[in-house]
Amino acid sequence: MLQKSKYLLLTGLLFSFIITKAYDGKYIYTIDLTHVVNDKVYIELEVPTLEGKDVTFYLPKMIPGTYAIEDYGRFVSDLKAVDKKGRTLKVEKTGANSWKIMKANKLVKITYWIDDSYDGDIDGPDIFQPAGTNIEAGKNFILNASGYFGYFEDKSNYLYEVKVIKPAGFYGSTGLIPQVSNKDISAGDSLADRQFEPGTKVDVFATNNYDELVDSPIMYCVPDTTLIDVSGTQVLVSVYSPNDLITSKQIANTIDEVLMAQKDYLGGKLPVDKYAFLFYFTDEPVMSYGALEHSYSSFYYMPEYSIDDMQQQLRDFAAHEFFHIVTPLSIHSEEIVPFNFTNPKMSRHLWLYEGMTEYFAGNAQVKARLITIDQYINMLREKMMVASEFNDTLPMTTLSLGVLDTYADQYYNVYQKGALIGLALDLTLLDLSDGKYGVQNMMADLSKEYGKHKSFKDNELFDKIVDLTYPEIKEFFNRYVDGNEPLPMAEIFEKAGLIYEKEGLFYDYSIGLTNDNIGVDMDRNVLYIKNEDKLDNFGKLLGLHDGDVITAINGEPFPELGPQVQSYIINIMSSMQEGKEFTMKILRPQEDGSEKEMTLRTKTVKVARQAPYTIRPMEQPSPHQILVRNAWLGLNKLLKRVIR
Ligand SMILES: [Zn+2]
Repeated sequence: MLQKSKYLLLTGLLFSFIITKAYDGKYIYTIDLTHVVNDKVYIELEVPTLEGKDVTFYLPKMIPGTYAIEDYGRFVSDLKAVDKKGRTLKVEKTGANSWKIMKANKLVKITYWIDDSYDGDIDGPDIFQPAGTNIEAGKNFILNASGYFGYFEDKSNYLYEVKVIKPAGFYGSTGLIPQVSNKDISAGDSLADRQFEPGTKVDVFATNNYDELVDSPIMYCVPDTTLIDVSGTQVLVSVYSPNDLITSKQIANTIDEVLMAQKDYLGGKLPVDKYAFLFYFTDEPVMSYGALEHSYSSFYYMPEYSIDDMQQQLRDFAAHEFFHIVTPLSIHSEEIVPFNFTNPKMSRHLWLYEGMTEYFAGNAQVKARLITIDQYINMLREKMMVASEFNDTLPMTTLSLGVLDTYADQYYNVYQKGALIGLALDLTLLDLSDGKYGVQNMMADLSKEYGKHKSFKDNELFDKIVDLTYPEIKEFFNRYVDGNEPLPMAEIFEKAGLIYEKEGLFYDYSIGLTNDNIGVDMDRNVLYIKNEDKLDNFGKLLGLHDGDVITAINGEPFPELGPQVQSYIINIMSSMQEGKEFTMKILRPQEDGSEKEMTLRTKTVKVARQAPYTIRPMEQPSPHQILVRNAWLGLNKLLKRVIR
């Protein structure tokens, strides 16, 4: 605040003089996206006023939300420091992300080239793509500020202005509101002496500090954007799909429902006035993909498939990233805000930031009936299955503190066990409160206590939650989050009148085909029944036999073998309903060597099979257990809606 008002005063007084003068308390960056040379772009920084003999310039070692080291300084080359007369000052590289510049009081300008992280071959840690950078001349630029712009020691709280020189027809999608859009380049601008193609324009963005700049990715490309209004919040969906396989309109249609569910979950109002979903789809083979949250946007790096193949995954991702608005963006410890970009410190509460967020993403969808209770239970079972691959006696708090090094290989468990901690805490609170107070209430209370600009002390959070809730919760944290005891899943599910077994009978829909009974005919590119002895009850009901080639299910032609088979089966399974007719078209081998086309039919029923981590309702739950279950799954609310 102080910096800003000082700056405003200064510009007011010196209005016409400041073009060539170094600014006090303000970084002015210019980046040219129209001249890509060897996959690099050029950046010029007009520096704030500096004092002293020398100064160190940094790019971040790490940014919030990734829980991994990035070392963005690697992508800088040919860094030059220049004084007022254009003479270069001595620069010494002092670390992976730092440069010491001599005669700092003479420094007016720093220039350098930046390579990108998406297709570069620079040594160092792999950067999670949503936190990375892309330079694809004429096609797409991902500006995560951490990969382009830096700060001087102790001066990341200065104002930032970023001028982006962009190719004709390009649009910068972001959660930031631009200061100026589509300005022509004028004589006073930095880099104005370069040759530009007709139609080249400049956008100008400004933030109060470096944290806000890093919190605001910008995607430049020929726009495919859709703007929707979600009960008063302006939501931008921006898509880069290199082969036009998926559009912003399709995604906006599918996440609209999710955001409505999140609005209800958060008490009837989304906590921001505007928000941007930025999607970069790649047609390159991907080893990993994902998304990263910000205060007014989230960025998604995903393989390029059609909306039908991506639907549920997009919804799960969008729900998770948007819920980060609650934590860590508004409930966070001092390790997170203000963030130390040079020497990051870890908080012990990843169970909260990632685990609770992931729990919310699933629980909000089942409460709004965007997914069925069966789908939700399977989501939780999958988390238990994946969590079983990790160290279950490592306290989540210890994992969090060591996530950058010692326990980096356990990080993925924060999305599994972390979410299950959210579930366990929710059911424990609902049990203690007769269904009146769960984690939704707890997070709302923590939001009131803290906020975007008020951090909690890392080692005081558990006590604060105990103060807000019940003394029994202290023991819960001591044993299962801060201690090394595995979560007591049977005890937890019992609170909602459910029977949990580590290995048990599981009742679910089946299409009769499992890995045990099918074969693949590579020559014909078809699936057939190979082992009819291994058919489950549904396969037997249908009357499948060895040699039957599957050609269609419920009238939907069976796809060519490939990744699309999985989404085909998911779609079939999610449309199954007790008692509904189920058909399977097959080709059955005949004695004379020919094949006969047949349609097998049966009524849809759930079948029992032996499976890990099974959850089923008790025969006679108590009224209290039903109360807890209904509150957990939002069944009371549904009942009211049906009655109305
Ligand atoms: Zn997350």
